[in-house]
Amino acid sequence: MSKSTDELFKNVISHAKEYGFVFQSSEIYDGLSAVYDYGQNGSELKNNIKTYWWKAMVQMHENIVGIDSAIFMHPTIWKASGHVDGFSDPMIDNKDSKKRYRADQLLEDKIERYSKDGKTEKAEKLQYDMDEALKGENLARLRELIIEHEIADPISGTRNWTEVRQFNLMFSTQMGAIADEADVVYLRPETAQGIFVNYLNVQKSGRMKIPFGIAQIGKAFRNEVIARQFIIRMREFEQMEMQYFVRPGTQREWFDKWKETRLKWHLALGTAPEKYRYHEHTKLAFYADAAYDIEFEFPFGFKEVEGIHSRTNYDLSQHQKFSNKKMQYFDPEVDPETGKPYGNYIPYVIETSIGLDRMFLLTMINAYEEEDLSTEEKQDSRVVLRLHPCLAPVKAAIFPLIKKDGLPEKARQIMDRLKVDFNLQYEEKDAIGKRYRRQDAIGTPFCITVDHQTLEDDTVTIRYRDTMQQERVAVADLDKIIGDKVSWKNLLS
Ligand code: ATP
Repeated sequence: MSKSTDELFKNVISHAKEYGFVFQSSEIYDGLSAVYDYGQNGSELKNNIKTYWWKAMVQMHENIVGIDSAIFMHPTIWKASGHVDGFSDPMIDNKDSKKRYRADQLLEDKIERYSKDGKTEKAEKLQYDMDEALKGENLARLRELIIEHEIADPISGTRNWTEVRQFNLMFSTQMGAIADEADVVYLRPETAQGIFVNYLNVQKSGRMKIPFGIAQIGKAFRNEVIARQFIIRMREFEQMEMQYFVRPGTQREWFDKWKETRLKWHLALGTAPEKYRYHEHTKLAFYADAAYDIEFEFPFGFKEVEGIHSRTNYDLSQHQKFSNKKMQYFDPEVDPETGKPYGNYIPYVIETSIGLDRMFLLTMINAYEEEDLSTEEKQDSRVVLRLHPCLAPVKAAIFPLIKKDGLPEKARQIMDRLKVDFNLQYEEKDAIGKRYRRQDAIGTPFCITVDHQTLEDDTVTIRYRDTMQQERVAVADLDKIIGDKVSWKNLLS
């Protein structure tokens, strides 16, 4: 069954809703734009992705520890980090449709159209002009380019544009009962700053020695103006970040190592390597000395899933300046060149930052398959989520063949024993075939059927999701069969 990628993406979205993975937030009130809820299967899958990341980063590295910092932080943190002044997108409004757009995205869409139409030279020239304008923060020039290239609003079709303005992406709110300026706090737009401001607390209380890392999983909020492509660009989303503190001068080596290590983490899930690529940032933030994105080929093209950034000592130096607290680390190790300890310095930082929601979507898209099972006699098909067993929301489903003769009781008995270790589902409605299909659709690796023979010899039929093959096994072996398949060893060693 070959489908256009557009159709495939639509099918994944409706599948995600139909099977309890992702719902539009506040749906009964017509939804809240770019905000989503995870359903019963979605939250399990999301938790499993988090566990995979946490184990790979924290549990598998003796020198990396995890924290959980608050979403609200002192407002000066966002001054120091540069977010108050610089975390903004250039916006332009169309006066007829009253719709707002990101000026750079309008230009990027045009560049893409030029490329598709074979107008390579035009595309390259516009790319260059736009990069120059963005680098120089020349908002007037961005507007000029939109006019020069005759970009029209897709809704009104007119070219009646306002000036380009900077629009800050941070959400703010008030803390405390009295609403005055001093009480403004922000919802964090990234989790990284919670790590930076705690770096010495962790280093001292954990007696950490450089190089060491601090990891964190948590919500981040951005008032994205253009929200599109489902959970790719949300206003409330989750990040999994790790900041790795290193000795100045060694950052390139660690950057290369993390760049490689992180891609390996993605590929261990069995994804085809050609679905991934690195994208090197050519326009670096002024404080960064290297930056790569790990991109995945979504049905609508390659998109960033994770960023690996060499952030120098910028963030820690800024916090030292704004807080008046020393951010230095004392390195007792002896420098072979001078024969003296490296002494006091502000560490350099390599960051790995992955969007959990983008990882979730990537996993769903990768796993989703509409499989044609037709034979000469009859037409048949199934939708199967070929999730890695470690990530599958439900590890096994247990079915009594029929709802009588003591089979449900026996099935429950088996379930009660196994559910301590594995997330299981019990189902007794409908024919077995239908039950198999429902489990295939949520990616359950095993279906276990209890029948009359089970009562006699304590064996069951186990059916495998991917091959659909069945075999008879002893109830006593189920722990091992399931356990082997869903063990984190399959991904982490
Ligand atoms: P983009 O260029 O796509 O806006 P970014 O470069 O701003 O992303 P970072 O600030 O590097 O993103 O954040 C790290 C990761 O967080 C990204 O790789 C992405 O997976 C995720 N992320 C960022 N913004 C969003 C969002 N609005 N919704 C969902 N995930 C996001």
